[in-house]
Formats: sequence, structure tokens, C-alpha cells
Amino acid sequence: MKLFIDIGGTHLRSEIVSEEGIIRDTISSHEMGLLAYIDKQMALHPKIDFIGISYAGQVNNGIITASPNINIDQYDIVGTIKARYGIRSCIDNDLNCAVRAEASYWRSGSIATLFVGTGIGAAVIDEGRLVRGSRNMAFEIGHIPYRESPLHCGCGRNNCIELYASGSGMAKWLKHYGSAHLPDLERLKESTSDEHSVAIQFEEALLHAAGVLVTVANPEMLVLGGGVIEQNPYLVTLLREKLKEYALAPALEGVRIEMSVLENAPLAGAKLLEDDHG
Ligand SMILES: [Zn+2]
Repeated sequence: MKLFIDIGGTHLRSEIVSEEGIIRDTISSHEMGLLAYIDKQMALHPKIDFIGISYAGQVNNGIITASPNINIDQYDIVGTIKARYGIRSCIDNDLNCAVRAEASYWRSGSIATLFVGTGIGAAVIDEGRLVRGSRNMAFEIGHIPYRESPLHCGCGRNNCIELYASGSGMAKWLKHYGSAHLPDLERLKESTSDEHSVAIQFEEALLHAAGVLVTVANPEMLVLGGGVIEQNPYLVTLLREKLKEYALAPALEGVRIEMSVLENAPLAGAKLLEDDHG
């Protein structure tokens, strides 16, 4: 019996997979910490013998190092699970998980993912290998400097691209303008000038992020996903039409841009962690 978890800034989704079938669960990410959730599942299902976790934050060698959008109840998650239950677990950044699942689905060894939900994140597989960087933070695109703002990012700074090109960023701008609207892009564009500007600056920042990603990673394929993209599928068309204004032309040449068709790519990627030693 195996437990797979995808924890993002909004939801924690899990699947317990065994010969008897799959048990699915979804709770708010703020309802309980990751370790508390694992303790609960281990008490309910003591036969769990492997845990794979997709985590919306920075993770290195099984240890959570930072998470702007999730409250952390234990940093050394893999070590604690081993000490408490004697079982193996793996944890990786959610985009690193997603890109594994997308590479497998699209059968591509040269692929970048850009997902926009509560936050914005990216990951890259090049020549069939995940690009990790020295501390597993390669392509952590949400916190590259973009523009100064009157707002504060979860990481503490005021100029991250996540403040513009993410669901939480849009929500902060709408609150700043006193708007009660949800970040529904097409509705925002038809609304007051402040709300319109939040939607337009989101589109520009998303194009900027995608342009940087394609220029520096030079993938064969760019796959878009995450809640905000799924709710606004026109963004994929926007990127196909306008990315040439934001990416270096030779890097963009021949790049295929697709929307993720997986139901939950980070969770699908968590299932690939068990065999992953790279
Ligand atoms: Zn930041």
C-alpha cells in the first residue's frame, strides 16, 4: 500500500494505492500540516509502506528548505517518516514532479513545465534528465525579480514575478484595490480599470516568465498547467501568439506549446518518485 500526496498552496490531495483500488482525499492545505496529515493516514492505514510527496515549495535531499505558500510542521520530512514508521518516502518540488509526469506523457526528453496556481513555478528536463541545480532549486521562476510593487511576496520581497503572474498575486492586487472579485481573468478584463489592469499585468508577467523560461532552458516543448491556466485556457493561445515578443527568437523556434492534459501532473509525478534516483 502506497500513499501519494500533492500539497499546493490551496489544496492537499492524496491517493492511497493498493491492490484493492485507490482511495482519494482532498483537504485544504491550511487544515493541517503535512506531517500531521501523514500521521493521520498512517493511523488509518498502517499497511502504507511507501510515501511519495509532491511539494509546492523548495525541497532538497528530502528536507523542506522553504515554502512561501504552505505552513511547515516538519522540515526533515523523509527522516521523520523513517524514524517514526520505518518506511521509505520521497519528496520533491511540485514542478519537478509535474515535469516528470509530463515528460512521460508527451514522451519528450526536452521539456519545460510552467504551472500557475496559487504560485507560479517551472521545471525542466533536458536530454532526459531533470535539471536540479546544486540545491534542487533550478528554474524556481516565481521569485525572480520582476517589478517593484506595494505588495509583499510569501518569500518576503516586493518585486517577485509571483506577485504578478499567480493566483495569490492577483488576489493581493485585488485586495490592494479594494476589489472583492475573484481572480477570473476574463471577467476582470471587463471590469473597472483597476481590475482590468490586474488582468493585463498578469498576462504580461506570464508572458515574461514563459519568455525567460524558453530563452534560458531552450526546450523542445513547453507545457502549461495549474489551476489559473485551467480556468483560463485562452492563455495557451495568448502564449502561442505573443511569446515571440518575450523570448529570444532562435530559442523559441519550433517550440511546441501545449496545455497539460493530465488531471493532476504533480500527483502523477509523485507516483514516479519511488523509482527515481536522479
Ligand atoms: Zn518571492
